[in-house]
Amino acid sequence: MITLEDMEGFFRESMELDEYQKRAESFAVYPKQYSTIYPSLGLVGEAGEVAEKVKKWLRDGYIEKEEVAKELGDVLWYLAVLSRDLGYPLSDIARMNLDKLSSRKKRGKLKGSGDNR
Ligand SMILES: [Mg+2]
Repeated sequence: MITLEDMEGFFRESMELDEYQKRAESFAVYPKQYSTIYPSLGLVGEAGEVAEKVKKWLRDGYIEKEEVAKELGDVLWYLAVLSRDLGYPLSDIARMNLDKLSSRKKRGKLKGSGDNR
């Protein structure tokens, strides 16, 4: 059962995500004609930087967690501005994802493949 505290927590977290998105937008300086494509490419690039740092864990035997965290922040920034370019508040993206995962869990479909299972 969803309690009033759950709802308050959800709305508080939504505001934090949307506030982050608004603040992130102030750093977006790419030309308008490249909206959506620019942050999509940036998102993939930064995800690659995360993978690169984690890969070095295999080579060097230790992980620089703070460096990975910084790259995750870059991923978050591109996610926020890409969502903005597509017309979605970041809180909507988070809610839609949790709804999808919750539905899959209820139907025993967390494992497997397919975007719309
Ligand atoms: Mg980076």
